[in-house]
Amino acid sequence: MSKTILFGGLTPLHELLIKGAVESFGYRAQFLPTPDNSSLRVGREYCNRGMCNPTYYTVGNLIKFLQEKAAQGIPVEEEFLFVTVGACGPCRFGMYETEYRHALKEAGFKNFKVSILNQSEFSSEGEFELTPSLLWALVKAVWLADVLRDLGYQLRPYEVEEGSVDREIGNFSRELYLALKGGAGVLELYSLLKNLRERLEELPFDYTRVKPVVSVIGEFWAHTTEGDGNYRLHRWLEEEGAEVRPEPVAGWIDYQLFIEAEKVKREIKVKGVSVNRLKRLAAVKLMAFVFRSLYNLFRAPFSFRPKPLPSQKLLAELAKPYFDYMVVGGEGHLEVAKHVYSVKYKKAHMVVSVKPFGCMPSTQSDGAQVKVLADYPHSIFISVETSGDGEVNVKSRVQMKLYEAKRAAKEEFDSLLRELNMTYSGFERVFSCEEFREPFVKLSDRFIGTGARALWANRLRVKSLLEPSVEVV
Ligand code: SF4
Repeated sequence: MSKTILFGGLTPLHELLIKGAVESFGYRAQFLPTPDNSSLRVGREYCNRGMCNPTYYTVGNLIKFLQEKAAQGIPVEEEFLFVTVGACGPCRFGMYETEYRHALKEAGFKNFKVSILNQSEFSSEGEFELTPSLLWALVKAVWLADVLRDLGYQLRPYEVEEGSVDREIGNFSRELYLALKGGAGVLELYSLLKNLRERLEELPFDYTRVKPVVSVIGEFWAHTTEGDGNYRLHRWLEEEGAEVRPEPVAGWIDYQLFIEAEKVKREIKVKGVSVNRLKRLAAVKLMAFVFRSLYNLFRAPFSFRPKPLPSQKLLAELAKPYFDYMVVGGEGHLEVAKHVYSVKYKKAHMVVSVKPFGCMPSTQSDGAQVKVLADYPHSIFISVETSGDGEVNVKSRVQMKLYEAKRAAKEEFDSLLRELNMTYSGFERVFSCEEFREPFVKLSDRFIGTGARALWANRLRVKSLLEPSVEVV
């Protein structure tokens, strides 16, 4: 293909690695800049009325890019092809493709080509063909980006040298891009990740900082983007003193496979067993198994520190009293399930759910979250709507909840100190030693906060270091 493939909509890290994966098949690829509020304005100008925010941001972002290129004299309709993910709905996601075509026409690019990747069938329409080997390369790229992103959010709040984690991950992601572009296999990628671990081990970390863990969930695009679409929430929360848990894109793919498997199971129940249906079920289940195994393999070099993908079956069970998991569209039951999972399994002190303006599925989930809060009154939960404006209002609401989360993290840590009959200064003294300043310090699952997890996991060693030495006379 002579055209350059344009794509976008995830994080810069995901997009860099996807570019490498696509280029390894001989395509030219370019990712769009992260959508900002000027993209939103352009989107509102050319899209139909009544769309949800992600539509305006993403469609507007493409048109803005094409307008800029056209102004430089580049014949954009011959030069570029846009590839995006689509589905049959049932929310506005099903209308994205039409909306892209409509807005492009309105903006004067009526011959501009858009290729659609069907997210649930892993198939493609248009000039860009999604082959099984390209799909595998994309999965590797996205999983790597998820793992690195998660790792960055877990390590950055404890770095001693400001900017050191971003620097290492940034340099490494460029190497990873070149490796993916060169068609690196799983084992090569694995050994590169081990290399990153060694580099991170050179950096000092301070786990005496007691920080609340904040999970960011919500509508897929709104909780994934790292731009104006969610007021740059992840980085802002980090600046405000939180340790952020972003959601991996892999979790979304895992969800799609789970729903596909459930649909086939229902079909078998209603229409009976057939070889074709059994084959389809086996294929989806095998795919989910392979994808999960790959995700865990990429977590392994970092002592499995990046969070695992929770079982989809468990999430569906957790959501059951509040939301039928076969009600699909947007994140379906996942917004509710992730909230319950975080509270019940002590995964975060606070949960922020990001709902884009005009999002139907998130509005439904918000209704169900009221009942979740009634059942789990100790949950620190906030749902925010992102509309492009109202940033100050949203952030001040989140700040109030974050204050509660900080208090909860401190209480958790203080109760652990009491249980161990230890003082904070004693803990601080021991954790200032070289041994506890390495990034991949042992962590327990008993607590939420990283400091508490580290102290509990290493309590015997900490106590032995704190005990006064006995002098033999
Ligand atoms: S989930 Fe909500 S925001 Fe996302 S495409 Fe559907 S309606 Fe729009």
